[in-house]
Amino acid sequence: MFQDLQVVDFHAHLAVPGDPSHGGGSKRTPPADADPQVAERLRVRDKQNQLARRQWRQAYDFPEPESDEYTPAEQGERWIAELDRHGIDRVCFVTGGGNDTLASVVAAHPDRICGMAHHDPTAPDAAAELERAVGSLGLRGYKMFAPRIDVPLADRSLYPVWEACERLGIPVLIHFGMLGAAGGVSYHQNISPVVLEPVARDFPTVDFVIPHFGIQHVTDLLFLCWSCPNVHVDSSGSNQWVRWMPYPLTLDDLFRKFYETIGPSRLLFGSDSSWFPRGFAIRYLQDQVRIARLMNMPADELALIFGGNARRLLGLDTGA
Ligand SMILES: [Zn+2]
Repeated sequence: MFQDLQVVDFHAHLAVPGDPSHGGGSKRTPPADADPQVAERLRVRDKQNQLARRQWRQAYDFPEPESDEYTPAEQGERWIAELDRHGIDRVCFVTGGGNDTLASVVAAHPDRICGMAHHDPTAPDAAAELERAVGSLGLRGYKMFAPRIDVPLADRSLYPVWEACERLGIPVLIHFGMLGAAGGVSYHQNISPVVLEPVARDFPTVDFVIPHFGIQHVTDLLFLCWSCPNVHVDSSGSNQWVRWMPYPLTLDDLFRKFYETIGPSRLLFGSDSSWFPRGFAIRYLQDQVRIARLMNMPADELALIFGGNARRLLGLDTGA
């Protein structure tokens, strides 16, 4: 238990060697024969981005990420210790080195760790792979980064994937808004959650979850939630994107606004934890629990936001 809450972290990433599936915006590096002036500009840009990341770590008193590599099985063990240390019931990894790798870690700790499929939805076999990842491997959702999908989300070519989600009864977690740390992507045809509305309407039994309060598209997300009751929101990460909004906006504001519009049953806590030695980003949980408690949320609503909603969407109540 964390305080009196059975916490499920709906959104974390299992960091495994060679898996760049989290973060990572544009990784443009100059070709060997690049104009020296271009190469110099890109070098300066990379330096600025590194400084921005360091500033963020210092602001939260986070350690430097480790450079050691651990196997997926070792990472699973480290995460169990981390959950125990902080009193967290379960974690859902939304990426983790591909479906087979992540499923192997889930299978070793089925009562504490669950996972989502994460593969290219535009691949010809994407729907079949999703059926395999859920039906055979035991994953419980599907994670996408919309700004990495190079067809509009409502394109008919993706409908077999949405139909598979509907058949399987799994939630779909879709990142919209700026992607990666400083220097990442902030423009793309799928950057705003508005593009999801036709899909969310056509698949009313599929639960879609939009992380990080929709990032810079918070208004679009609020209206999407107004339009489609099957759209949910996760609170994961530092939410430092609020710094770039052109008006004052805090995590407290976001909790209040979403709570008063969509209510407690469509809000899910997530940490967006990934790397060690930070491990589980307890800081984010502490901040969010404090905000919710100071809003005078009743105990049953706190229980939903910090675990119950995740259990319901991931189908964790039946079983373990
Ligand atoms: Zn994430």
